[in-house]
Order: sequence, then C-alpha cells, then structure tokens
Amino acid sequence: MPFRSIVGHDHLKRLIARAALRGTLPPSLIFAGPSGVGKRMAAVALAQLVNCAAPTDEDACGVCPSCTRIARRVHADVLLLEPGDSGAIKIEPIRDAVERSAYRPFEGRRRFVIIDDAEQIVANAQDALLKTLEEPPGSTTFVLVTSMPETLLATIRSRCQRLRFGRLAPAEVAGVLMAAHGYSEADAHAAAALSDGSVGRALEEGSDAFVDARDAAVQLLEIVASHPAPSRRIQGAVGMPGGGRGKADREALGQALRALATLLRDLGILGAGRRDGLANGDLAPRLQALARSFDRDRILSAFAAVDRALNALDRNASPKIVADWLAFQI
Ligand SMILES: [Zn+2]
Repeated sequence: MPFRSIVGHDHLKRLIARAALRGTLPPSLIFAGPSGVGKRMAAVALAQLVNCAAPTDEDACGVCPSCTRIARRVHADVLLLEPGDSGAIKIEPIRDAVERSAYRPFEGRRRFVIIDDAEQIVANAQDALLKTLEEPPGSTTFVLVTSMPETLLATIRSRCQRLRFGRLAPAEVAGVLMAAHGYSEADAHAAAALSDGSVGRALEEGSDAFVDARDAAVQLLEIVASHPAPSRRIQGAVGMPGGGRGKADREALGQALRALATLLRDLGILGAGRRDGLANGDLAPRLQALARSFDRDRILSAFAAVDRALNALDRNASPKIVADWLAFQI
C-alpha cells in the first residue's frame, strides 16, 4: 500500500518519502506511536517506494511487480517479521534476518527488515539485533514498528532514528472504516468517536454496540438538558445500557460513559464557537441544540461525574445505580 493510500500523517509521510528518494534515510528507524494508526503500512510503503520500478510524485506506483510482491510479502529483499503464536519474536528469525542483511539485495535496490510489534523481540534477540544496528550493513534498512518504544533496549533506541506517529482525527478513522471496512456512515462515526484515534481500536470494539452506546448517551443528554423533574431524569438513566449486574452490563455502561465523554468534549468545542474537530461530527445538529443547555461549568462538572461513574464501575458498583446517580449529576 503506497503512502497515498495511508490516511493521515501527511507531514511524516512526506518527510520519509523525501529522505528515501534523496538517499538520506538513516539505516535504522523506529516507527513509534499508538497501535492501529498505520505505522506498519508506512514501513511497507517505504520499502515499496525505494524498490518501485516507476515511482511518481514521491510515492511508489503500487502496481509494478516489485510493489505487488512487497505487498504480498513475497519480495526477496523485504522481510516482515512479527510475533508468532507465542506472542514473542524469537531469536531464530532475527538471526536469519541479520545474516541476510549482510548480502546485497537479491532483486531490488535495497533490503528492508520490518519488525512489527518490535517490543516483543525476546531479550537475547535484541542483543543479536543490536550488533547489526551498531554497524549497519550498507544495503539494508531496519524499521522497528512499535507502540511501546520505551520497552526496547536503550542501546537499540539510541541506534535508531525515531519517527513519532500521532493519533488520527476521528474523521480520518471514520473515513478508513467506510472505505476499507465497509462501515455505514453512522457506524463509522460512532466507532471513530470512541477509537482514540486508532483504526485498530475502532475495529476491535465492534460497531453495533458502539452505535447503541452512543445513542443512549445522546438521549440521556437530551433528556437532562432542560433540568427536568427527577422522574424524567430516571427515565434517561433507564435508557442507558447495563440494566443488570453482570460483567457485560458493566462493560456496556462503560462504553456508553466513554461515548458520553466524547459528546461532552464536542459540546465544549461547539461552546467555544468552533465546529472543526468534532469526534461526533455526524451528530452536529443535535449537539448544537444541546450546546445551548451546556455551558462550560456544566460540561466540566458533567465530565467529573462521568469520571466518577467510570471509577465506580471499576470498583464493581451496580451499573443501574451508577446510571441513576449519573442522571442526576449532569
Ligand atoms: Zn511500483
């Protein structure tokens, strides 16, 4: 997948591509940042660009034999290592990659050793890798992809240039979910709002539950917006998921509470007179109506209430009691 197909990280992608084309790319790199934002895809795009038969606009073509073979993981010079069934990256594949890196490229211009979830490399394999990174072979680039760079040996970190990938904007996550994963617009926005800027995380959560959780949270806000009578507030609480006492109920209410937090954050953005950067952009008209009832102080105290509610859930409080309490606090 060439750089242009990877969503977000525009500045970083340009930086990497230019360095690669100028031949100024450091021999060892760490792609660090949250999981599920495209770090590994960027490493593959880099290997494609350097080995592409017909690069255009500072990007790989994506269709030449070299690009296709790299994407299919059957290119002789581009090796992608990742944790095995044990969850660890053991010494044998690392040793094998290190040995191969000493030779000239077999079919391409430059060898790439991409190690995904590099924090899972076992300790003695990190030692073996370190020796190579200290004296990098001239024709191989190492890319260590990780969401936990601090767990790598300090000596490895010091040998690598670190590039930091940030979180994606909610609209970017929603775009990927729709384009590449067949989500409907409503599902994509709901999942993106709770994804913390990670496509991987959005996919892990399961979209139906997301939509339901967020719907319940908006409805609760709409019910409590005009400071209604207690009986009406309780009705709002009843609409929240997690009516029972089990683990699933607690998780469902937790999800609704996190959705509520993203909605409150959006109300804060609207209250400040802005419209950009809403996590729940698809709900903008409803949120705008709500924003009239939620000034800054009310949003802050509602945030604090959501935080206390999540803490109570963590301490095994009954979801129903937590939801009832919350309906009177916001
Ligand atoms: Zn190509």
